[in-house]
Amino acid sequence: MIYLKTDDEVELLREANILVGKTLGEMAKLIRPGVTTQELDKVAEEFIRDHGATPTFLGFPNPYGGPFPASICTSVNDQVVHGIPNDTPLQEGDIVSIDCGTCLNGYCGDSCYTFPVGEVSEEVIKLMRTTKEALYKGIEQAVVGHRIGDISYAVQQHCVSNGYGVVREFVGHGIGKQMHEEPQVPNYGRRGNGILMKDGLCIAIEPMITMGKDKIYLAEDRWTVHTQDHLPAAHYEHTICVRKGHADILSSFEFIEEVLREKSI
Ligand code: MG
Ligand code: MG
Repeated sequence: MIYLKTDDEVELLREANILVGKTLGEMAKLIRPGVTTQELDKVAEEFIRDHGATPTFLGFPNPYGGPFPASICTSVNDQVVHGIPNDTPLQEGDIVSIDCGTCLNGYCGDSCYTFPVGEVSEEVIKLMRTTKEALYKGIEQAVVGHRIGDISYAVQQHCVSNGYGVVREFVGHGIGKQMHEEPQVPNYGRRGNGILMKDGLCIAIEPMITMGKDKIYLAEDRWTVHTQDHLPAAHYEHTICVRKGHADILSSFEFIEEVLREKSI
């Protein structure tokens, strides 16, 4: 069942997603060599709760094991998604994807950003840049009258043409009162395939892109997804609303990128 959102619901989704963006902005301030992902998780949880929301990931059920034990997913280097925060300090040259979800006034926010830790190699910067570009190429296709496959194709095409792998086992999704609603939004597919997008369809688009092969495996913790070849992966995600002409991006990277710009000066 696909729920198209009313304008009022879209504004509620925007509020939840702006809070995710602000939380990720707080993460940007703290990310540096030596900080642990557990420390980031603690700050994220407090920030979300201080703003009257709950972290949707905490306690999220897992068909393969126990519920998710933290408020953010922190996936470092060869970890693709669903990394569990731990007490290992981040190191110069690492990358960390922080995926964050909130529930505010009954509506969900969901967004992810891959951060560099200190100075990162040129080839890793290119992986991050290309994955983020792919996200925006997908968003360009998320307009009334296009099909989900148009998003999928745009993401896949951009990443594959740069020699990267596209993870297939995890996909974007509809979002609303539930974090995961229909339809699925794969990062691979054919133009003109899939459901026709209508005004008010709210979806999370989230390319998960690997520097090497697209093959992955699930770690013993039953959450963390790694690349099989242990090359790095990047993950960027926006929640958007399909509109005529161009999508309305409900989440925001502005809070993050403002901090990153200040850091690089
Ligand atoms: Mg997410
Ligand atoms: Mg998502």
